[in-house]
Amino acid sequence: MIKALRGMKDFLGDEAQKYAYCVDVCKQLAQNYGFSFCETPLLEETALFKRSVGESSDIVGKEMYQFEDKGGNDVCLRPEGTAGTVRAFLEAKLDRGLANHRFFYYGSMYRYERPQRGRLRQFHQFGVESFGLDDIKEDVNIILLAKSILDFFGIKATLKLNSIGCQSCMPPYKQNLVKFLESTDGLCEDCQRRKNTNPIRVLDCKNEACHELLRPAPRLLNNLCKDCKNDFEELKKLLDKSSIKYEIDTNLVRGLDYYSKTAFEFVSDELGAQGTIIGGGRYDKLVEYLGGKATPAIGFAMGFERLMELVSMPETKRSGYYFGSLGKGAYEVLLGKANKLRLSEKVHLDYQDRSLKAHLKQADKKNALYCVCVGENELASQTLWLKNLETKEEKILRLDEL
Ligand SMILES: [Zn+2]
Ligand SMILES: [Zn+2]
Repeated sequence: MIKALRGMKDFLGDEAQKYAYCVDVCKQLAQNYGFSFCETPLLEETALFKRSVGESSDIVGKEMYQFEDKGGNDVCLRPEGTAGTVRAFLEAKLDRGLANHRFFYYGSMYRYERPQRGRLRQFHQFGVESFGLDDIKEDVNIILLAKSILDFFGIKATLKLNSIGCQSCMPPYKQNLVKFLESTDGLCEDCQRRKNTNPIRVLDCKNEACHELLRPAPRLLNNLCKDCKNDFEELKKLLDKSSIKYEIDTNLVRGLDYYSKTAFEFVSDELGAQGTIIGGGRYDKLVEYLGGKATPAIGFAMGFERLMELVSMPETKRSGYYFGSLGKGAYEVLLGKANKLRLSEKVHLDYQDRSLKAHLKQADKKNALYCVCVGENELASQTLWLKNLETKEEKILRLDEL
């Protein structure tokens, strides 16, 4: 028997329903906040991710689902959604206009890593990207959307907030940090490596000993330029006004130069260990970096697998119709009726002749609101028998009355 590939799994039954439900809710809320749907290919040129996600990142360094296609092209299954969205934005020349654009996307992403609990090689994300607005109010808009999604599902999560500065305040800070790191002994191997390749990432090392050693490290938040500082203060003020609680986390950093200013995460400890459900922030330089006109941008991404562990499905209400036939000729009448009704309503058309009692039992199992049956009497009088399974009310209707 052929099985699914390692690290890949199917959504079937309840899980498939839950995925569809989560997607529906996210789509609806994103639309309510002014975002429109976009879909980009699963497969892109490897160079796109090397440039955007960064060669020094773990994703590109170790986890790319990369191969050569039959035409000899170096291609890669998308490990995340932002790169493709920015590429699409550029390819449509949307960077040339003055309008701002807001997109949401959802679907599968791929990372070739060792499969373990909560980490699959094919996983699913929902994300939003907003282009063209360098107004801090857009940061608020994005954070509120993320919060609305979590609130809708009743998920308690802590908003962590940081500013990672801009091209005028980040470089001098980085120099200071490197100086500090060079005078600090005992950092772990990862930190030693990052000290040279990507010093900012040392700050989010998960090693306890490193945590202690890094306590006195200089913090960018205390060294922001005037512009970044004003934006951060304004962001906090607007969140306060919206009664959104947050925690400042100066260790919340991004390792790449095109990230700037706002960085945020929603972290939940409902899954045992603390885990990030939503991560986002500004990437004002990425569009330019990928060859476009300078365009400020901000977005977030959310993992569906993690979300689905926290979501419980709402009770399903009775809905739609169950059609059952009792005796010869009844099925044909019901088929015609079902066909018309199905343009707007869910109709379960049963294929077997059963007793009325058996049909009612089936209708209940299908969670239908109405059970409609046709037997000999109804056939003769061109009528239908209908029962509302919630109110238990029964009726005889003319065929054209349904
Ligand atoms: Zn700055
Ligand atoms: Zn470390």
